[in-house]
Amino acid sequence: MTDESSNAGRDFIRDIVAADLASGREKGVVTRFPPEPNGYLHLGHAKSICLNFGIAEEFGGRCHLRFDDTNPTKEEQEYIDAIERDVRWLGFDWGEHLHFASDYFEQLYAWAQHLIRTGKAYVDDQTQEEIRLTRGTLTEPGQNSPFRDRSVEENLDLFTRMRAGEFPNGARVLRAKIDMTSGNINLRDPVLYRILNAHHPRTGNTWHIYPSYDFAHGQSDAIEHITHSICTLEFEDHRPLYDWCLENLPVPSRPHQYEFARLNVTYTLLSKRVLNGLVHGGHVSGWDDPRMPTLAGLQRRGIPAEALREFVKRIGVAKANSTVDIGMFDFVVREVLNKTAPRRMAVLNPLKVVIENYPEGQSETLEAVNHPDDPLQGSRRIPFGRELYIERDDFMEDPPKKFFRMAPGREVRLRYGYFITCREVIKNAAGEVVELRCTYDPATKGGNAPDGRKVKATIHWVSAAEAVPAEVRLYNLLFTTPQPDAANFAAQINPGSLETVTGMLEPALASDNFEGAIQFERQGYFCRDKDSAPGKPVFNRTVGLRDTWAKVSTTG
Ligand code: ATP
Ligand code: MG
Repeated sequence: MTDESSNAGRDFIRDIVAADLASGREKGVVTRFPPEPNGYLHLGHAKSICLNFGIAEEFGGRCHLRFDDTNPTKEEQEYIDAIERDVRWLGFDWGEHLHFASDYFEQLYAWAQHLIRTGKAYVDDQTQEEIRLTRGTLTEPGQNSPFRDRSVEENLDLFTRMRAGEFPNGARVLRAKIDMTSGNINLRDPVLYRILNAHHPRTGNTWHIYPSYDFAHGQSDAIEHITHSICTLEFEDHRPLYDWCLENLPVPSRPHQYEFARLNVTYTLLSKRVLNGLVHGGHVSGWDDPRMPTLAGLQRRGIPAEALREFVKRIGVAKANSTVDIGMFDFVVREVLNKTAPRRMAVLNPLKVVIENYPEGQSETLEAVNHPDDPLQGSRRIPFGRELYIERDDFMEDPPKKFFRMAPGREVRLRYGYFITCREVIKNAAGEVVELRCTYDPATKGGNAPDGRKVKATIHWVSAAEAVPAEVRLYNLLFTTPQPDAANFAAQINPGSLETVTGMLEPALASDNFEGAIQFERQGYFCRDKDSAPGKPVFNRTVGLRDTWAKVSTTG
């Protein structure tokens, strides 16, 4: 963990905000979360959301949700709706402050004209390629455009005609006139407007030119009186341009930009471009596939919003990029779920057990507590009878020394039930174990023997007569390598990222209607999937009980 994060809840951005309020430089704090609606939100966005909304909450300010909808070719209403839903789900509320950069298009246009009039912007007829080639490099200065010294009148006229849709895509751009020799390439006459004859989800066909991110972002902040414009480190080099625009325009307020390190997580790619490729390439079932690091996917997998907020709190906010171990995320998820998730029993790889001395046709119910540390969750009755299912892995015909569970001749405890002893192993023609013949000790009801004898293992089980079969989806890491390569993501997808089994559930699971995850005892946390149909439950594994990722990483 970094120094910044060990300082419980405090980080360098919160220190800046606190100092600005203390010194009176700002009277209140206003932040914003500015997603581009070109995909679903992911774990990285959760960090930014928690930071922006968290600061507003802690310092008595407000946080806006602002869509940076300046690129109509990639943006869709579906994404706008999903982003709003996911921010709310994460536990934050923007109140009346839902904004769109597109709401400011008219103002931004007027400010672009202002720059033209003050000799600080010009229309460039060069192609995108020519502009790129004359921009120079980190070691060489750029070259001035031959159109750089156009008159204000000509620039205004051309810009008006760009807006009116007179020119094809890419024919001209509006550029700021700053300094083609600047050491910061962002200041070498950056593009402020480009021609794009495209339908916009909100402004329709009104516009034929769209502002660049750099021109829209700071000015939108100023319009909304944002005090602290918090973004990720890749924008650090854009800050001088952010400041240049604000200093050269008659904006109503003067925001400041601060940069923090983006979140990277092992075995995970947090990039909308990649996530889009996973969805549209058919590698996953959709944006909310439970293997996706999207908020929608995490929610569908059963991760509580509280676990996301807690994870973000623990990783802290630093100024240097780093990568967080996915194991840490799972750890926090388990910790949060362990406190509240109700317990149930389910057998995921069933092996039949017949209790020979239990009368045929008879059954009874046993009492099972719903949560070992929370008596308020009460208890339930679970059926017990002559035929049961236990987990195949809980039996070994020829057990090694440290295996204490079921084996021929051995006695174990059934969770909430009796002691049973394995008397005979039945196999099929192929030599596979298909059934265990056992006996039970009626005196051990409740899990203890009156004579004080002990057993070394307690195993989970379900009654075969009442068990409900369910499709259980076992998710593993989506990528096989700790640092997947975004350029080549498809080749690194884990072929075992989804394993589907038919499990046997205790009957309560068919009718329970829990919102979140449930612990299947000894297995992990699971939640009901939206693909469930009446009588046909589908469960997703949220996270296993133990850390299995190290094993996965070596076996691929
Ligand atoms: P992506 O690279 O996934 O496409 P983006 O930065 O283009 O992400 P935006 O919609 O522009 O996506 O992001 C909205 C906000 O979320 C920005 O302020 C951005 O800095 C922040 N953000 C995006 N990814 C991360 C991340 N991995 N960690 C922290 N903040 C992030
Ligand atoms: Mg972006």
